[in-house]
Amino acid sequence: LDIRLPVSATHDEISHLSETLNQMLERVEAGVRSIRDFTANAAHELRTPLALIRTEVEVALSLPRSNEEYCEACEQVQKETVRMTRLIDSLLMLARVDAGTETLRFEPVDLNQLAQQLGERWKVPMQLAVLGLIVHIDPNPAFVSADLSSLQRLLTILLDNASRYTPPGGSVELRVKQEEGRVIVSVSDTGIGIAPEHQLRVFDRFYRVGRFGSGNTGGSGLGLALAKWIAEKHGTSLMLKSAVGEGACFQFSIAGSSRPEAIKFSEALVA
Ligand code: ADP
Repeated sequence: LDIRLPVSATHDEISHLSETLNQMLERVEAGVRSIRDFTANAAHELRTPLALIRTEVEVALSLPRSNEEYCEACEQVQKETVRMTRLIDSLLMLARVDAGTETLRFEPVDLNQLAQQLGERWKVPMQLAVLGLIVHIDPNPAFVSADLSSLQRLLTILLDNASRYTPPGGSVELRVKQEEGRVIVSVSDTGIGIAPEHQLRVFDRFYRVGRFGSGNTGGSGLGLALAKWIAEKHGTSLMLKSAVGEGACFQFSIAGSSRPEAIKFSEALVA
């Protein structure tokens, strides 16, 4: 059903008004289309882990199985429920972002300390994935004005991706350095890398590289969209440098100082 108004060739007020109304209609249509796509994608993403859980449970109920087989089925179900929880958390955060209700509380945050804490937290998961983890931090404190939990989330998304897209035997590096009044943070890996034609699109919601997406790597397709939003709210952008087969490096920088007082009074922002 096309409800666009006819626009006459004459440049009178009515035709100008019709054109403006048509442009408004097009924008509403694009909005409705993107909501429809988002819902379809979200439903599809939720179906995959649910289907796996259902199969595991059905097989466990219908066939006599050994204790080990039951344990394996439970582990699989647990893995899929973790994946669903992560997906639902990301969907909820995006819903708050879209509604404008996701609030950030800015305070002085020492990025060196945060990097050290994340390094500790990721030691075991990286070992389990047979990956080396290197944390390089600056000798001086690196204070920035930030929302601590959002920055934690951003870096967790990047570390999680680095660990999932790097084959065993590779390494992941988290680096914090200070240059000309800015704190530069990067997460790089020696993994599969991202081809140039995908490098802008990986920040889109649900976009994944490759035919099978990250279905088998446990991803949600929403991580980088959230990471990009968090970086932008901190007045920076998330840069990506990568080549296929040579790993990927994600980097951002925030105005910073080694003294927290300097941040509190000169850099504090309110979202
Ligand atoms: P996902 O949950 O699928 O990992 P993301 O939004 O975090 O979703 O990332 C989007 C896509 O970008 C991924 O599916 C993957 O194809 C690609 N990608 C992200 N990080 C990396 C990385 N470190 N190395 C290679 N590819 C990556």
